[in-house]
Amino acid sequence: MKMQTTAPSHTATSNPCKLCSPLGACLVFKGIKGALPLLHGSQGCATYIRRYLISHYKEPIDIASSNFTETTTVFGGKNNLTNALKNICTQYTPELIGVATTCLSETIGDDVPQYLREFKSEQEPNARLPHIVPVSTPSYQGTHMDGFHAAIKSLVTYFAAPLPRTQRVVLFPNMVSSADIRYLKELLADFALDHIILPDYSCTLDGGPWDGYQKIPSGGTSVEDLAKLGGFAFAIELGRSPAGQESASAYLEHKFTLKRYTTGLPIGIQATDEFMQILETISRQSPPQAIREERGRLLDAYADAHKYCFEKKAVVFGEADMVAAMAGFLLETGIIPVLCATGSHNGILKAELEKLSCQSGRSLEVREGVDFEEIHDISRKLKPDFMLGNSKGYSIARKLGIPLVRVGFPIHDRIGGQRILHLGYRGTQQLFDRIVNTIIENTQAQSPVGYTYM
Ligand code: SF4
Repeated sequence: MKMQTTAPSHTATSNPCKLCSPLGACLVFKGIKGALPLLHGSQGCATYIRRYLISHYKEPIDIASSNFTETTTVFGGKNNLTNALKNICTQYTPELIGVATTCLSETIGDDVPQYLREFKSEQEPNARLPHIVPVSTPSYQGTHMDGFHAAIKSLVTYFAAPLPRTQRVVLFPNMVSSADIRYLKELLADFALDHIILPDYSCTLDGGPWDGYQKIPSGGTSVEDLAKLGGFAFAIELGRSPAGQESASAYLEHKFTLKRYTTGLPIGIQATDEFMQILETISRQSPPQAIREERGRLLDAYADAHKYCFEKKAVVFGEADMVAAMAGFLLETGIIPVLCATGSHNGILKAELEKLSCQSGRSLEVREGVDFEEIHDISRKLKPDFMLGNSKGYSIARKLGIPLVRVGFPIHDRIGGQRILHLGYRGTQQLFDRIVNTIIENTQAQSPVGYTYM
């Protein structure tokens, strides 16, 4: 029952198992109604992030940039930021602008909150300005998940103010798919909970066709709801906060004394049971029959497919919370997550895997702060049957001659990444069926005589 964390064989990073910090912040701002993300830095950062988000979500994604030049880099970006804000207000008339910094503006030490104060004081007294929420996202010391959590925290600290208590619930879903957010909304409604989800990009990043171009797609958490956060009674946070950092729900708890619940991503029976228990406690209602039936079908499927799963080996990689949840789920099915890897370096994965290692009595190889070269090196020795993670692992899976089951973000080489359901009994069921069918399909493909059912 030990956890292995052997040192990497090289020091340089090549193809990191993480993405850029302001990307996570942009995703959060895309989940706010009437909001536009603005990157304070060079144009290339906005282009890279737009490209990444568009190739996963297959939706038009506007992200503004303050367009640094050589001069800006030497003398500071205040004028560029001011011009960008004015242009956005004229062209988009947004309700909110989320200003995320990039490596360059952080490196030269631009004081964005001060620039914003000066910008506001320079406007006409009766000018109607959007909310402008800054977030510091230096990518050289964080990942897309750090940017994601930092943007949520900035929104909460900007909006939450003391208000009379209501029985409302705010759910922080973590960086999950648009389909996951829709499913969470359905679940909360099943338990008759008056709720908001922060962020909610279930429609903004997975909507229907438009009659004309929408500069800012409809949907998202409204600023009116954000302004009421200080009166909410409950917060649920999916995923674990990095050690030593206060999450948005922890901030609400200590500032406004709401009741806070945290749990891992609800993937697998045990993790979903824990989430359902929270919903039951808050709502004082038992899960509806339909949810209990979904759980029963999933248990039945585990039993049906055990012969295909038992002792199969998987390499799991991606965001720490997602990897930890996937590892817990795989262990329930008899599949061994022989390597669990993430590009983050915040202790979440190690802490969660230590618990799983103790529960299961399995020795699990865990790596934080890894790149794909290291994942490849370790995987070659472990001889896994398949990989479970995002599209960035495809080249390794190809070299190893094993299948990649795509989950999480980014999924560039398939359609529907935003519609993959990971969460709850229902999402686990879909994931489980995909994994088992992948194992069967690969066995058929590798067999010299084929395998079929006559
Ligand atoms: S320079 Fe920094 S902020 Fe810009 S794309 Fe690269 S990692 Fe992201």
